[in-house]
Amino acid sequence: MGTNYIYNSDKIKDILVNDIIIGKEPIIIAGPCTFGSYEEIYEIAKELKKLDIKFLRAGVFKSRTNPYSFQGLHDEGIEMLLKIKEEFGFKIVTELLTLEQVNKYGKDIDIIQIGSRNMYNYELLKEIGKIDKPILLKRGLSATYKEWLMAAEYILKEGNNKVILCERGIRGFDNETRNVLDIQAVPYIKNNSKLPIIVDPSHASGNRYMVEAMSRASLAAGCDGLIIEVHTNPDKSLCDSEQTIDIETLKRIVEFKNRI
Ligand code: PEP
Ligand code: MN
Repeated sequence: MGTNYIYNSDKIKDILVNDIIIGKEPIIIAGPCTFGSYEEIYEIAKELKKLDIKFLRAGVFKSRTNPYSFQGLHDEGIEMLLKIKEEFGFKIVTELLTLEQVNKYGKDIDIIQIGSRNMYNYELLKEIGKIDKPILLKRGLSATYKEWLMAAEYILKEGNNKVILCERGIRGFDNETRNVLDIQAVPYIKNNSKLPIIVDPSHASGNRYMVEAMSRASLAAGCDGLIIEVHTNPDKSLCDSEQTIDIETLKRIVEFKNRI
């Protein structure tokens, strides 16, 4: 499979996010699942800067399972992220859920995240295929490799060849962990496509004590980067607190990455 598809063709070139080439050496995208105030995101950003983290993740449009859960700061949150970007120089990675949001904020964000729940939203994929912006395409909750690559192809077909795949765990049968990190996705994608692949050990495991080990495993498997939920006070995280690591743990992961 694959030879006739763009994802496996020479049309896939290096993805440049400002000055950083994705796929050259592993990147680390870090930050809270979401945040509730400027002070909160500022405190986290300040600590990430000290670790020389270049990519800040933070959700402002949250697709929560429970409609009564906090849904993010929306427009106000985007404004805060842009202020943080200006102050610290991070590249901003955040999820956009709709075409309206893409049209309104797409140009200001450095990498647009398409979440697991939207991997099958083909009309949205077609539209983001028409813009010139790196897209982080998360794997659907129980998507096969082929379905995931076909979702990428929807974007590529429209002309946007800047697609980064993200393995974020798939549904398993054991409720002890949130999902199952499919580490095999890394060699599969490397062998069957020319797209870069990063790993999200946070949503995969759902447990903060697993995140460091799974980060090391992902790097050892040859991924192009990690996206990790981190907070200066993980217990106070408004969302996904159980899987959110502290700054110290992130520091060890960064050190590990720098050694390999
Ligand atoms: C996220 O990264 O904030 C997120 C919601 O992840 P996913 O779409 O993989 O569930
Ligand atoms: Mn989260």
